[in-house]
Amino acid sequence: MKLTIYRGSKEIGGTLIELKTSSTRLLIDAGYPLFLNGSPIEDTIAKLPSVKLLELGVLPKISGLYTWDEPAFDAVVISHAHIDHYGLLKYIHPCIPVYLSAGTQKIVELSQTFRIVDKFPINACTFKMYEPFSVGNIRIKPYLMDHSAFDAAAFEFSAEGKTMLYSGDFRGHGRKAVCLERFIQNAQKQADVLLTEGTMLGRADETVLTENEVEQAVAEAATGINAPVLFQCSSQNIDRLVSFYRAALRLGKLFVVDVYTANVLFELRSLGNHLPYPSGEYPNIRVFFPFRLTQKIFEKIGQEYARRFSAFHISKEELTIKGKTILMTARPSIWRDIEKCELRDGLFLYSMWNGYRDTEYQKKFEASLLDAGFICKAIHTSGHASVPDIQRLMTELNPKRIVPIHTMIPSAFMNISDKVILQEDGKKLEI
Ligand SMILES: [Zn+2]
Ligand SMILES: [Zn+2]
Repeated sequence: MKLTIYRGSKEIGGTLIELKTSSTRLLIDAGYPLFLNGSPIEDTIAKLPSVKLLELGVLPKISGLYTWDEPAFDAVVISHAHIDHYGLLKYIHPCIPVYLSAGTQKIVELSQTFRIVDKFPINACTFKMYEPFSVGNIRIKPYLMDHSAFDAAAFEFSAEGKTMLYSGDFRGHGRKAVCLERFIQNAQKQADVLLTEGTMLGRADETVLTENEVEQAVAEAATGINAPVLFQCSSQNIDRLVSFYRAALRLGKLFVVDVYTANVLFELRSLGNHLPYPSGEYPNIRVFFPFRLTQKIFEKIGQEYARRFSAFHISKEELTIKGKTILMTARPSIWRDIEKCELRDGLFLYSMWNGYRDTEYQKKFEASLLDAGFICKAIHTSGHASVPDIQRLMTELNPKRIVPIHTMIPSAFMNISDKVILQEDGKKLEI
């Protein structure tokens, strides 16, 4: 087998990996980059025509992959529903099958439905965790992983007597920490190559709390606050939403989610996942309809995405009255609604990567919250593995060679193991 990392050997995000045998060619992840020439990529870049994206290297030069090529890949395998792992799918030839988990597929579909990402056809084939499938002569076994994206996978690829493990993005301190243990126990030991992420190797100063500790910290911060408690996290970070939901239960507060977040919970629950969602079963969850989002749903998305929650709707008037008893989702785009509900003098909990707080959009939002008398506090933990967990993965799987990916500092891996080999983007490695 031949391994080529097209992007990711020395950066976080934008992951693109090729695995090739004598008869089969696979692309593993199709990530949109988070960085361009070393700086965070600007939003305007995504709107550029594909010719320009090829020129800039946003689309690496890979033959037989893109919509305008004669397809020469047998499949694309996606590890999880983060843009830096699937954001280039829209440029990939629609005839090439895309393998992804049911949860990943649902999140991608929802992002398209709510126009967070562009609509594009996907020749989707869903895989089930722990059930091996084959593409050409490559056998692929997916493993459910603990990550901030729901239903994320690691993979074991075997062909021609060789095995490569790919961790995907993972951690061992979330609500599915047991999945990391299961991967360590069941994945093939002494594989020829372990491709592992190393996001946290460059972020050693970040505190790593478990999701239970996040829940505890939220409950402690909000105890005795007789005022609205707002929180901001990704609506697709299900582990985190569950942490806030559980904290709301402990605090005896109403858990109020906006209609988009409600749809994410509803759709993932409908796949059979045991998740809290607005329903008779979870009476302390109520759904808030922000004006602009609701208008968009009725005019462009489809009214069923709003009507399905009408029995659990919380009106602006009710929010004003019950403001002191709520724990509610918030983000810059719904600031006007928060203002109109006269939610003031409460607590705002920021629960995303700190780097996003530097954007003008976010700064303005938090300044408005401060003006309205809110106290702002950050409670967060990474979606990525701590250095000890990466070390443990490497030691216990005991592979012959280790290739770092999804890291800014691949050389830091050299201090952890003598089996590490550093790859260059675009260079082939014979497995
Ligand atoms: Zn990633
Ligand atoms: Zn990720």
